[in-house]
Amino acid sequence: MAQGQQPILVLPEGTSRYLGRDAQRMNILAGKILAETVRTTLGPKGMDKMLVDSLGDIVVTNDGVTILKEMDIEHPAAKMLVEVAKTQEDEVGDGTTTAVIIAGELLKKAETLLEMEIHPTIIAMGYRQAAEKAQEILNDIAIDASDRDTLIKVAMTAMTGKGTEKAREPLAELIVDAVKQVEEDGEVEKDHIKIEKKEGAAVDDSTLVQGVIIDKERVHPGMPKKVENAKIALLNCPIEVKETEVDAEIRITDPSQMQAFIEQEEQMIRDMVNSIVETGANVLFCQKGIDDLAQHYLAKAGVLAVRRVKKSDMEKLSKATGANIVTNIEDLSEDDLGEAGIVSEKKISGEEMIFVEECKEPKAVTILVRGSTEHVVSEVERAIEDAIGVVAATVEDGKVVAGGGAPEIEVAKRLKDYADSISGREQLAVSAFAEALEIVPKTLAENAGLDSIDVLVDLRAAHEESPYMGLDVFDGEIVDMKEAGVIEPHRVKKQAIQSAAEAAEMILRIDDVIAASSSESDEDMGDMGDMGGMPPM
Ligand code: ADP
Ligand code: MG
Repeated sequence: MAQGQQPILVLPEGTSRYLGRDAQRMNILAGKILAETVRTTLGPKGMDKMLVDSLGDIVVTNDGVTILKEMDIEHPAAKMLVEVAKTQEDEVGDGTTTAVIIAGELLKKAETLLEMEIHPTIIAMGYRQAAEKAQEILNDIAIDASDRDTLIKVAMTAMTGKGTEKAREPLAELIVDAVKQVEEDGEVEKDHIKIEKKEGAAVDDSTLVQGVIIDKERVHPGMPKKVENAKIALLNCPIEVKETEVDAEIRITDPSQMQAFIEQEEQMIRDMVNSIVETGANVLFCQKGIDDLAQHYLAKAGVLAVRRVKKSDMEKLSKATGANIVTNIEDLSEDDLGEAGIVSEKKISGEEMIFVEECKEPKAVTILVRGSTEHVVSEVERAIEDAIGVVAATVEDGKVVAGGGAPEIEVAKRLKDYADSISGREQLAVSAFAEALEIVPKTLAENAGLDSIDVLVDLRAAHEESPYMGLDVFDGEIVDMKEAGVIEPHRVKKQAIQSAAEAAEMILRIDDVIAASSSESDEDMGDMGDMGGMPPM
């Protein structure tokens, strides 16, 4: 056979490959499907999704990023949109659904442009120009505010329609207090706000603790349940006699030697406990284990001790009480101790927890989230996390925008004017970008059962008067969102538009998808399966 007739295989057999328009069409479709999935959850009137994993565990949520994380997404382009949601979550903690649906809409509009034979590079360039301009416009319409009243409104807007209804206002107060408490030099470390959840009470029974709650119990029943004016030691070494590193053999020829040996070990433990007690500590949190005998001596000395505390909790305890985490028991001194008004073990719906409360100026606090069932508590927790994110962003930036689709309509309007000033085909892409932003108010209207076309027409008209006009989804009216108290951090919108544009641009620039076959990994799995057939021991 002549050589030229042999097919040349550059890639291994089974590799799938899509080129040019096929690649674009596929990627755009995947992105659109993903955006379509989360769309129905947008806004206060958005619906929830029930996600069931392979083990049958259920999550009921309205939170964009949670839905996308729980879904097992395969398609590479769709995965890029999931990344958009995750970035939004990390950077701001809210606006995840918004970011994804804007990205989906940008892809949809790009498809129309591609059909008009506009080159993807031109579209991508137009989108980038539009995204930059959108940031300028957002800066222009942002309102400077970070007073307490604003912060509470921002928190309430983020929680609207997320299973917190009755308790929205008290929760918002609690969240603002928490964020203000941990703020240091205008920066908020969200990790310093711990969220503990326990079902079995109403949502409005949630509380803010000026300190840390540790989901553990004291190690010994003989220890006090409650210590006032606590002096707290934090240790990250075990309180036990170290095992020898090398195997050592000890030959005992006489029972008294055995006795001496045991006594010596006991003495070592007693010394360790003594050096802790001598510093004046009456509460001890240990990241590692505490030997039985040490527990006994600590109890005798009236110390409340907790063992195997998580590293992250140790750090929070340090932030809240001012204690230093000490690695060597001998190094522990009075100066390393922290303080709390009260440390106590409390029973919360049948389970013991340690409350470290009444700390002076704590830089770590805890929100104890309550709710009737596990699913309710989890959804409320997600709403609180979003709210912490938006309050923190507002404290840090001091800038907010109106909600209810107002900024999207305003940016779209000004972008359309900007498009007119551009020559060349990018103009079409900039106009498409502007229209894509209208997906936000459009979806808010649809999810509220309103006619989206009417709403858009009314909104555009209202923006001739004021940039703050948005859709009140509860009574279907177009109102001034600033006055209605529906406000969001500036950063949420900036980030959502920016990352949606970047993802769309990246997907558009792909003209070749080369995917390795996954059959090999299936074979590996088969081999593993064979191991299951090993003869029983
Ligand atoms: P995301 O994950 O993007 O934050 P949400 O489901 O939280 O999605 O919805 C956020 C959208 O809902 C924002 O556009 C916000 O302005 C809007 N929104 C919140 N409260 C109201 C309200 N009372 N009236 C109209 N729109 C609102
Ligand atoms: Mg939200």
